[in-house]
Amino acid sequence: MQAHDLNGVQGDALRPAQYKEQIHTRFTSAQRAHTTVLHAGLTYAHDVFVVAGMRGLGYRSEMLECPDNAALQIGKEFGNRGQCNPTYFTVGNVVKHLIHLRDEKGLSTKEIIENYLFVTAGACGPCRFGTYVTEYRKALRDAGFDGFRVLLFQQQGGLKQATGDASGLAINREFAFTLVRSMMAGDVLNLIGYRMRPYEVEPGSVDAALEKCRAILCEAMENRRSIVMALRRCRPVLDAVPLDRLRAKPVVSIIGEFWAMTTEGDGNYHLQRFLESEGAEVDVQGVTNWLLFMIWENKYDRLRRIGLRRDDGGKKGLEGKDAAKALRMLGFADRAVRVYFHLYAWALGLRGYHLPDLDQIARLAANHYDNNVRGGEGHMEVGKLVHFVEDRVNHMTVSVKPFGCMPSSGVSDGVQSLITTKYPEAIFLPIETTGDGQVNVQSRVQMMLFKARQRAREEYQDALHVANLTERDVRRRLALPHFASNFWRPRHAVAGAAANIVHAVARPRGLDRLRLWSPARWWRALTRPAAALRPEFGEE
Ligand code: SF4
Repeated sequence: MQAHDLNGVQGDALRPAQYKEQIHTRFTSAQRAHTTVLHAGLTYAHDVFVVAGMRGLGYRSEMLECPDNAALQIGKEFGNRGQCNPTYFTVGNVVKHLIHLRDEKGLSTKEIIENYLFVTAGACGPCRFGTYVTEYRKALRDAGFDGFRVLLFQQQGGLKQATGDASGLAINREFAFTLVRSMMAGDVLNLIGYRMRPYEVEPGSVDAALEKCRAILCEAMENRRSIVMALRRCRPVLDAVPLDRLRAKPVVSIIGEFWAMTTEGDGNYHLQRFLESEGAEVDVQGVTNWLLFMIWENKYDRLRRIGLRRDDGGKKGLEGKDAAKALRMLGFADRAVRVYFHLYAWALGLRGYHLPDLDQIARLAANHYDNNVRGGEGHMEVGKLVHFVEDRVNHMTVSVKPFGCMPSSGVSDGVQSLITTKYPEAIFLPIETTGDGQVNVQSRVQMMLFKARQRAREEYQDALHVANLTERDVRRRLALPHFASNFWRPRHAVAGAAANIVHAVARPRGLDRLRLWSPARWWRALTRPAAALRPEFGEE
């Protein structure tokens, strides 16, 4: 090429045009009636509730399957190189569904583009989460679905979100409220399921009860009825499941990157179910914790920026704004989330569950991981591990870090090794999920679980020894009406449920003793099947 070509008129003509991505977001209210809104990304319970809630708002809505290895392969085929695992799984999952509609359901590409769209949450990053939407569009284009609409709502964007010409998707108070209700209902149902399943007497009985509860809740969401009342209707279903809670099981908390620790499929090698099959009680992190973390981040940033107010004239800056009012609103949002969550938990019978104190988590992490560093779970992974050890929350912690994840890999490989040196009693296992390392990961989990299982058994034997009771004594006391409900939760003393039960039944004093004589408890006990009472009134 001649030099003058680069500088002169001829050069300008040769210069390639700036690439501009074609963004397809047109979704008008007139298109609502024939457009199916696809959704996916969380646990099965959350996804079915979001879909039911969207139907209640008047949308045609469908849920995608949990992303599997086939989705990962499709994501890798059509996505950019060097992405993190959750990007490949989630992007590939959407493309996989559209290929299914085209190749197996017989829809033409044109019909799919005109009658379907995908809605997802987004953020400005700072990790790859900020580029997910671009990845969706790129992969869809390359897979032959150019023009397929991907609509984004910013998870930190509040209600005043720009949705382009997507007036068909009303991001308003009702939409936000529906999402939050779905998240919380999904959380309380998942949490109670994970608490109960390891102790079920008949295999599959807890899952069957959860399925009935999901149907009750979906019906309430679709018909826009009270979720609290629906959760109350789920209680007898769950309370009827026979449990044996005196099995000394290790409690294993799963933390790590948000999607990888939340998904229930190949994305984390079915980690939750695998741990349960190996005899553990799994402690999962709810989506509500994430909502609280986002509120905390906002509060923290505002407090730091208040001093800069005069120089903070950006679009989202504090110049000329009432920062104190904004802080009050965030404080109110935090309390509202907690009140709602506990209302749902109370309605379902999820007792003694504590949402995290995020100031405490931040304080615990601050010496090891700067609270100003963002991306992924930020300092939360570090703060949670310290909290779990110091407050004896569990016997073991597994941190799931997806292959290619910038924030989570750095934390697990670097900072957490310092924490485990400082707290040698911690049983901590970071695992990397690549999609093809299942056997390796599961055998590492089994090795660590061996130690946790031993610790749970020792803790249980210690509790019996301190209480001077035999297991038979404890079982007899457990048949008392005070303890008979599946929802009764012993006060937290140690990590294991069985050991906590021993500590609790050994000292039914004070308020506990008064509760023992509560007429309502006695009435419930008397109306339970006779078999449930037999040990108390037995021959001994
Ligand atoms: S936290 Fe990690 S895995 Fe998650 S989006 Fe960011 S880079 Fe990817």
